[in-house]
Amino acid sequence: MVKVEHIGVAVRSLSESIPLFSKLLQAECYKTEEVESEKVRTAFFRQGETKIELLESAEADGVIARFLEKKGEGIHHIAFEVEDIREEMQRLKKEGFVLLNEEPKAGADNKLVAFLHPKNTNSVLIEICQEKKLDMNY
Ligand code: ZN
Repeated sequence: MVKVEHIGVAVRSLSESIPLFSKLLQAECYKTEEVESEKVRTAFFRQGETKIELLESAEADGVIARFLEKKGEGIHHIAFEVEDIREEMQRLKKEGFVLLNEEPKAGADNKLVAFLHPKNTNSVLIEICQEKKLDMNY
């Protein structure tokens, strides 16, 4: 794994949390994006090498809505950048981690992503992500 690419924070309202994190980080939100497959709206801040991804549920039954119901607002996941997501998925599987998706899927911010089941990672939801390249055929 290359670095912590971003930390995902579940929030109830992007319109309230974007100005809050702007103030906190002294940085502007550089991108907002809806990820339809996950039923979330995201907002990104850059902080050096790492980003903060705010996540708001786009629908009442989305993963973030369920997370907020159970745990309230707060840190939702840690995302690590990897060189080769398929290779890393294979490695993690061999190590006994449980992947939540068998194939890399399209995430926010031009990434291919995969998640690990938190039951094997001390209840921390781990995302691995790889920048999508132009020559990729998946
Ligand atoms: Zn993420």
